[in-house]
Amino acid sequence: SAKNSGKNKFSIFDESMLFEFNEKIRIEQLIRSALDNEWFFIEYQPIIDKSTGETSSFEALIRMSEPKLMPNQFISIAERTGLIIQIGRWVIKEVIEQLKNWKINGYNLKPIAVNLSPKQIYDGNLVEFLESQLKINNIDPSLIEIEITENVLIENGDSNIVTLQRIKDLGITISLDDFGTNYSSLNYLTYMPVDKIKIDKNFKDKFINFKNNQFLEGIVFLAHTLNLKVVIEGVEDEDEYSILKKGESDFLQGYLFSRPLKKEDATKFLTKN
Ligand code: C2E
Ligand code: MG
Ligand code: MG
Ligand code: MG
Repeated sequence: SAKNSGKNKFSIFDESMLFEFNEKIRIEQLIRSALDNEWFFIEYQPIIDKSTGETSSFEALIRMSEPKLMPNQFISIAERTGLIIQIGRWVIKEVIEQLKNWKINGYNLKPIAVNLSPKQIYDGNLVEFLESQLKINNIDPSLIEIEITENVLIENGDSNIVTLQRIKDLGITISLDDFGTNYSSLNYLTYMPVDKIKIDKNFKDKFINFKNNQFLEGIVFLAHTLNLKVVIEGVEDEDEYSILKKGESDFLQGYLFSRPLKKEDATKFLTKN
């Protein structure tokens, strides 16, 4: 049929495009296998309360074990193929079950942040799914945070904002991730239903030594005028820490404090009564 011949017009690709095309199909198949065979797992990275130096929450970061792939190698393909919906449900379920597990074993729980892509926000069942998973496992919504990027505004922005507000109404905290990359219009902050911004590592790297760090601190100040908390990501060394300590940001995250950890190691960051 005409439809099939269209699909098979490989002559329009050059060799590198064909390679890329095959690579995408290979990764798509790996994602399907990983979903079927439980080759995904979560690492938990501590996020530090700057005022106390203590871990206040974790960020859940997905990993593929078989073969070992990092999110940057498969998340964008998962988004394009729609497989991100299944991945996202798996992550939400896994994280809420982990909280339940810690709870049953007597640990004092700390919130866990889950990254969600725009397609997941647009998925009509997300809010119900979150709500039911929390209920089934008897976990308070305040123990879940979600991290989104400004990309949720690119397509279906109005609808996505309504969904985010519904998530917030459940008692779930929302963070705007990767702040400072892309456009990051300050204007977005005035109408997006978010509680926190996470300043991206690249932005922090670029500005921490610029104008005596006053520029970065200016962003922190603006966020605070909107009642938003501020996390600074990718803190890797003591010099940066000593600069940031003098500033007004609320939370810090980075290899200096801890790398993302297997669940057994993350447990060591929790206390029991
Ligand atoms: P992100 O949400 O901005 O996560 C922060 C990334 O920075 C993570 O990379 C983390 O391991 C890394 N990181 C943390 N501290 C440091 C540091 O001090 N130095 C450096 N160089 N890097 C640091 P990771 O785990 O490779 O994840 C990359 C991105 O993949 C995430 O960026 C997020 O956008 C996406 N992602 C990860 N897990 C998920 C998921 O479950 N679902 C979705 N939709 N996206 C995910
Ligand atoms: Mg994140
Ligand atoms: Mg981030
Ligand atoms: Mg990032």
